[in-house]
Amino acid sequence: MNTNLQTPIDYLKGVGPNRADLLRKELGIHTYQDLLNLFPNRYLDRTKYYKINQLKRSSAEVQIIGEIINLKEISQKRGKRLVASFQDETGIMELVWFRGQKWIREGIKLNTPYVVFGKTNWFNGKFNMPHPEMELLSEHKKSVRSAMQPIYPSTEKLNNKGITNRVINRIMQQLFLETKGRFVETLPNNILSDLKLISKSEAIFNIHFPKSQGLLAKAQYRLKFEEFFFIQLQLILKNLINKTKIKGFPFEYVGDYFNTFFNEHLPFELTNAQKRVLKEIRADLGSKAQMNRLLQGDVGSGKTIVAFMSILIAIDNDFQACLMAPTEILATQHYNGLLEWCEQVNISIKLLTGSTKTSKRKEIHETLENGELKILIGTHALLEDKVKFKSLGLAIIDEQHRFGVAQRSKLWKKNLSPPHILVMSATPIPRTLAMSVYGDLDISIIDELPPGRKQIKTVHRYDKNRLNVFKFIRDEIAKGRQIYIVYPLIKESEALDFKDLMDGYESISRDFPLPNYQISIVHGKMKPADKEFEMQRFIKGETQIMVATTVIEVGVNVPNASVMIIESAERFGLSQLHQLRGRVGRGAEQSYCILMTSHKLTNDSRTRLETMVRTNDGFEIAEVDLKLRGPGDIMGTQQSGVLNLKIADILKDKDILMNARYYAKKVLNEDPTLIKDKNKPILSTYQSMGKYRNIWNYIS
Ligand code: ADP
Ligand code: MG
Repeated sequence: MNTNLQTPIDYLKGVGPNRADLLRKELGIHTYQDLLNLFPNRYLDRTKYYKINQLKRSSAEVQIIGEIINLKEISQKRGKRLVASFQDETGIMELVWFRGQKWIREGIKLNTPYVVFGKTNWFNGKFNMPHPEMELLSEHKKSVRSAMQPIYPSTEKLNNKGITNRVINRIMQQLFLETKGRFVETLPNNILSDLKLISKSEAIFNIHFPKSQGLLAKAQYRLKFEEFFFIQLQLILKNLINKTKIKGFPFEYVGDYFNTFFNEHLPFELTNAQKRVLKEIRADLGSKAQMNRLLQGDVGSGKTIVAFMSILIAIDNDFQACLMAPTEILATQHYNGLLEWCEQVNISIKLLTGSTKTSKRKEIHETLENGELKILIGTHALLEDKVKFKSLGLAIIDEQHRFGVAQRSKLWKKNLSPPHILVMSATPIPRTLAMSVYGDLDISIIDELPPGRKQIKTVHRYDKNRLNVFKFIRDEIAKGRQIYIVYPLIKESEALDFKDLMDGYESISRDFPLPNYQISIVHGKMKPADKEFEMQRFIKGETQIMVATTVIEVGVNVPNASVMIIESAERFGLSQLHQLRGRVGRGAEQSYCILMTSHKLTNDSRTRLETMVRTNDGFEIAEVDLKLRGPGDIMGTQQSGVLNLKIADILKDKDILMNARYYAKKVLNEDPTLIKDKNKPILSTYQSMGKYRNIWNYIS
């Protein structure tokens, strides 16, 4: 560790207290090291000069040599601007300033060669360049220019206060002068030579002052690899440490409950994916370490039976199990589903939610504590202090993105030793993202749907085609099917959305009148009991149409429902659309999803709709979603630390990520505590990572 680099930025020649303050506030640069890790966003070719007649309306930044032949101030309503006519031998254009006119007016020399640099616009039949960077040609000739001039991240405030890209460039040069550009290597020799990576010092130099395109590419590769490598190392180590530190209950037997159910009551043959995942879970449960596993599988892929069979292993080993779901509807549904299977093998199971009656609640508490009750299903009511298990061995959490990490760990505290944890998610997360975010969880994926499922036919229809859509609904109902119609209800526009829902409900009631048609309605403003009543009517087939908001998004299972109509579909996110569509296609019949929208569509919403129409594959949809929204939005701010990459990009640098993960695993397999001599650079880097604010603060 070169302590020099922890020197406050104020001490760097050319920085001073004012600039230091701005750098801290605007870019979070506190030390020499922070500045070193300010990587350029992109690079510009400053050896190339344009002629005015070569400019294109779509030009980015260009550099032009010419002279100012006149200067005038123009007053308008919104203030003055200063306009210069700038000429070269091929034509004439304008330079424009909206601020700092006085200073520029006084400094500018007419009819003298200048080099101007900036973005050009096409306006009123002429090109102009607002707020150009300017240099006298005579000065310009003295300075070194690069074909790859780095452009650093900046803010408007920095620019306004005169800390331009050029200034940053200059203080960066100063930094290299003072440190002699020598930085400690962070990767071991064997990895460097295996992957033909350039050294740390060379990479850092070339990222700021690229000597050639080739070296720049090598510098970028090396730094991206390094960034991913240390993140992966951290995640994998955390997982390893959990496994050795946190003793789990070894479930050594697969006993009568499991075998009886498997041999006599299994309602269908398991898919290969279900079998594989179950094997992975069994291996975990049988080991002495606590399981922390994410079970991913698209809607309808059959996670429930996997969960149930895992529970049976816990009970075979004399432990209790619980399953927590995010909503009452979903918890109830899980309970009803598992109840049937539990009765077959004679296991006690109870449901606990916010609306469980006090007397029932008391009974649950008692039987849970004395061990009579084996399985408890419920909502976050399970987390209440009064809920005490005799021996909780396995906790399953459904739809985990609705629960925070804090809640996950609250379940742990229900025991002396933490139970095994299985988190089930129906939101497919692209593998690369899962790797970066859940590196500390093991992942099992059910990537196969049960046989005989028909693809859900998905179409996009505009509002004006509503009559045809209604006719289609009528035909489906005549065949005995049931229909969902879903409206958006978003917090920000709740009142308006609620009105849309009610208006929609009325118009549907008019088109599908009693007594021939029965309609259920479910939305978030209803009392749980009323909601439940309406749900039950639909589940029992007493109503043919369910009008709802996204409350039904999660987990609801009505196999006879074959049509999902999503109103204002352009307002839903991709993963939500996919979740909603997953409510149909659960029975033997052909199912349909109809996405209704207005004519006004943004490019993004068009992409979302086209993706939905094109594919039923949740992982493919998740990839598109990741591209549209970026990783931060998808995972929420909670994980942004891990995703706050400085140079690498989860989407574009997937291959580097895979490579880095491979090497991180390999290193830790051979040397889990990093004591081998060759891994010294890794160890010291890893140790300093914790001390500083982020992964990049360890450099050198
Ligand atoms: P999800 O993964 O969305 O929770 P479920 O566990 O609810 O999916 O399963 C969806 C439906 O598929 C259920 O009706 C279930 O009984 C059925 N199912 C699950 N696995 C199989 C299988 N291997 N063969 C046939 N049907 C299955
Ligand atoms: Mg489910």
